[in-house]
Amino acid sequence: MSDDIQSEGCCKPCDGDHDHASEPRLGWHEYFMSVAHLIAKRATCTRGHIGAVVVRDNNILSTGYNGAPSGLPHCNETNCKIYRSVHPDGTVEENCVNTIHAEINAIAQAAKHGVSIKDADIYITASPCIHCLKVLINVGIRTIYYDKPYKIEHISELLRLSGIRLVQINVHNI
Ligand SMILES: [Zn+2]
Ligand SMILES: [Zn+2]
Repeated sequence: MSDDIQSEGCCKPCDGDHDHASEPRLGWHEYFMSVAHLIAKRATCTRGHIGAVVVRDNNILSTGYNGAPSGLPHCNETNCKIYRSVHPDGTVEENCVNTIHAEINAIAQAAKHGVSIKDADIYITASPCIHCLKVLINVGIRTIYYDKPYKIEHISELLRLSGIRLVQINVHNI
């Protein structure tokens, strides 16, 4: 009888068909990028949900998602306010004036709590815009890991000149 009760518990006894020890362990890149995707679910700008995680020595130092400054109305409550700008190559960009980008919010969180992020890496669910990239260079980020490309052609020259590394980590099924 007690065996029957146990088999109804939350942890089903192994039926012997598979071996738990053989399940692949999540690698560091997948782990941090998965956290970035989870953080993106807190984003409030309706134009896109982005998450960022700053990491050094496999420890999370700070996190951020895109949204309005603390205490101000968020886009999902008041609608985005769009402005247009023309990139030097002639392409027209549209951005939301309400929103702080995820990677800048991660930097702001570190600054607020006095956490040094020099020589750290950052995981972002999308590649940074040129404005965020400039700040990432200046806070001493070494490698930017991203999942989805975003206007990546606009940052190629800055990447080349600065030496900061940009590496794609594709995480599926999140
Ligand atoms: Zn917005
Ligand atoms: Zn940005």
